[in-house]
Amino acid sequence: MARILVKGLGLVFSGDFAQPRLDADAILIEGGKIAGIGTAKDFEAETTIDAQGCAVMPGLIDNHVHPAFGDWTPRQNQLGFIEAMVHGGTTTLISAGEVHLPGRPKDAVGVKALAIAAQRCFAAFRPMGARVLAGAPVPERGFRESDYQEMAACGVTLLGEIGLGTLKEANEVVETMGWARKAGLNAMIHCGGPSIAGSNLMQAEVVIAADADIVAHINGGPTSLPAAELTKVIAGTKRAIEVVHNGNPRNAIHALKVLTEMGRLDRLVLGTDSPAGSGVQPLGVMRTISLLCSLGGLDPAIAIAAAGGNTARWRNIEAGVIKLGAPADLVFLDAPIGGAGSDASEAFTHGELPGIGMVMVDGEVKTMRSRNTPPAARIPVILPGAVLS
Ligand SMILES: [Zn+2]
Repeated sequence: MARILVKGLGLVFSGDFAQPRLDADAILIEGGKIAGIGTAKDFEAETTIDAQGCAVMPGLIDNHVHPAFGDWTPRQNQLGFIEAMVHGGTTTLISAGEVHLPGRPKDAVGVKALAIAAQRCFAAFRPMGARVLAGAPVPERGFRESDYQEMAACGVTLLGEIGLGTLKEANEVVETMGWARKAGLNAMIHCGGPSIAGSNLMQAEVVIAADADIVAHINGGPTSLPAAELTKVIAGTKRAIEVVHNGNPRNAIHALKVLTEMGRLDRLVLGTDSPAGSGVQPLGVMRTISLLCSLGGLDPAIAIAAAGGNTARWRNIEAGVIKLGAPADLVFLDAPIGGAGSDASEAFTHGELPGIGMVMVDGEVKTMRSRNTPPAARIPVILPGAVLS
């Protein structure tokens, strides 16, 4: 595979909470991975892309999606929603449960079969290069420890939202979490009011007792716990706290404030919680970043890290960061034409959506100007003589 040099970068957002901005103007890509970060004169390559001063961030991770099969959602009967999200800078999507599948099974054998099939199908299917980590079984009453062991042995790594099925009491939730953890499954728990018919209100006490890897939608999916209860959940737990697009925006800001005061923004992860009744938002993760930065005062570099390295760390996956050896999932963005800011960072701070000028996944250019964002002021240019494969 040809080496690609990206030069002329403006801001470089690393996606790493510990060092969210990098002092560099060039990135070298080799074999689909990031092979160098620094200054253009230090690198040699067969292909050169001139970023023309725009910013780069890692491909964002949507920590909370509800896929079914293929690039189709039965919830809104919409085709191509995953490709649409790549146009919004999201290149990795993590399933919180394949709950919208028509007639989804709820017995143990059926749930196991669905989880394994979903994991396999999406491992082999990458719309516009997007990585969809799926196969997130929703636990039901009557499942046994061996069911979780069996799924893990078959390649399932996730547990979908506890509370979207029949589980709701603290003792059963704690027991299930113990089994999931022993099996090595990364688990999330629904928090707040019921979302779909048949799901449960999950109150602060139960969410705290569960000790799941991710507290899903702390700001509601879509119905939030009251703000005081939400504070209790953040203070009473120690792992990831998720803010979603399809939740309560007021409580998203409240959660941000609580995490900031605790000095624990490393716990913040972002998702859309879509497809859902609220719709499917191709720009959902960026819209959430814009919300938190403009109304919550969050530094855009930290917000990008929340949707990047923070999520990767709590999920134990490789994505969402710009560092040596990482997959070259790169999103090039700039202030939108006519916006208040002069670069992507100012655009987020002003509550705008930056324009995306190019998206790469695993070092391959998947799109130039996004079809979904407003037009970026500056976009990368692939210089003549490029060898792109
Ligand atoms: Zn939920």
